[in-house]
Amino acid sequence: MITPDAPALPLRPELADEVPYGAPQLDVPVRLNVNENPYAPSDAVVATISRYVADAARELNRYPDRDFSALRADLADYLAVESGVRLDPAQVWAANGSNEVMLHLLQAFGGPGRTALSFAPTYSMYPEYARDTHTRWVTGRRAEDFTLDPAHAVATIEAERPSVILLASPNNPTGTALPPSTVEAVLEAAARIPAVVVVDEAYAEFRREGVPSALELLDAHPHLAVTRTMSKAFAAAGLRLGYLAASAALVDALRVVRLPYHLSAVTQAAARAALAHRDELLGQVADLRAERDDLVTWLRDQQVGGRPLQVADTDANFVLFGTFADRHAVWQGLLDRGVLIRETGPDGWLRVSVGTPAETRSFQDALTDVVAETA
Ligand code: PMP
Repeated sequence: MITPDAPALPLRPELADEVPYGAPQLDVPVRLNVNENPYAPSDAVVATISRYVADAARELNRYPDRDFSALRADLADYLAVESGVRLDPAQVWAANGSNEVMLHLLQAFGGPGRTALSFAPTYSMYPEYARDTHTRWVTGRRAEDFTLDPAHAVATIEAERPSVILLASPNNPTGTALPPSTVEAVLEAAARIPAVVVVDEAYAEFRREGVPSALELLDAHPHLAVTRTMSKAFAAAGLRLGYLAASAALVDALRVVRLPYHLSAVTQAAARAALAHRDELLGQVADLRAERDDLVTWLRDQQVGGRPLQVADTDANFVLFGTFADRHAVWQGLLDRGVLIRETGPDGWLRVSVGTPAETRSFQDALTDVVAETA
C-alpha cells in the first residue's frame, strides 16, 4: 500500500494498492509456515559448498558462465536418478528460485493481450507473475476435494484460450498431485490453442509411492515445462535455485528473456555442491514423507466441535487441515505457544509444514491445547 505522504511517482496504477508478497518471518521456536525443509545442511554439505564457492570466488572478477552448462548437466543427471527420465542438458533451464523460472515463462509466453490460466485454490504467486508481465489472469476451480476435473479444465481452456496454463502438482496449499491422465487432457487441449503448460513440481520429491512425475510426458509434448526447485527437497531455500525441464525449443525461448548472467557464479557453485550430496539429501526426504504420513493420520484422529478434522490428501511436505469456525484464532493460539503455521487456503483451513519429529510434537501439543481451549 502506498503511504499517504508518498512522493508523486509514476507508479503503474494497478500497483497502487498492492502489498509485497510474503509470509511473516517471525523468530519463534517452531517455524512450520513456508514449507521449508527443517534439516539444516550437514557439516559435510557445508564443507563441499565452501570448497566449491571458494573455487568460484577465485574467478569473481569474471562474469559467470551465462549458460551455466555444468549446472544444467548436473541437474539433468539428478532428474534421471530421481525420476528415471533422461534429458539433454539443453532441455534444462534454471534461475534464482522457481519463482524466477516462472517469471521467465510468463515473459516469454504471456504478455499484453494474452491470458494465463490456473485452477484455484493454488499457489498465490501465480497472479503476481501475470500482473508483472501484463498478462490477463484467469482461474478455473478445483473440486471440493481439491482434485482437478479434466472436463472442467478442458472446457475452461477452450473458453479462455490462454497462452500459459499453470498446474501445481503437488498443489500448494492443498498438497494434491495430479494424475498423468489429467495433465495429458490439459496438454491435448493446450496444443489446440496453442498454449504452454507449466507443471509446477516444487514438491515433487515428496510424492507418495506410485505417483509419477510429469517429466515422463516431456518426450511427447514440446509445449510442456516441468518446474522444480532446490528450496524444498534439497533443503536449500536460501540458495535460490529453481529449474525446469522442457523441450530444447522452449528453453531457447527463455534464453531470450533472461537477464544476462542472471545466475551468479556463487549460486552455480553452491547448487552443484548441494547436488553432489543428493543421496544424503534425498534420504531426509524419505524421513519427511514418513513424518508427513504420520501427521496426516494423527490429524484425522482429532475432533473439533464433535466432528473429525478434515485433512486433504497430500503428496507434499505440508498438510492442509480444517475446518475451523475461526481459523485465525487457532493460528494465533498456536503462535502464542511458539508454533508458526500458515493461515492460507480456502476459508476455515490452515496449512502446516512437516518439521522434525520434535517440531511435529510441539505442533501436536499446541494444537491439542488450542482446540481444547477454543471448543
Ligand atoms: N511453486 C510452488 C507451488 C511453491 O509453493 C513455491 C514456494 N513456496 C514455489 C513454486 C517457489 O519456490 P522457489 O522460488 O523457492 O523455488
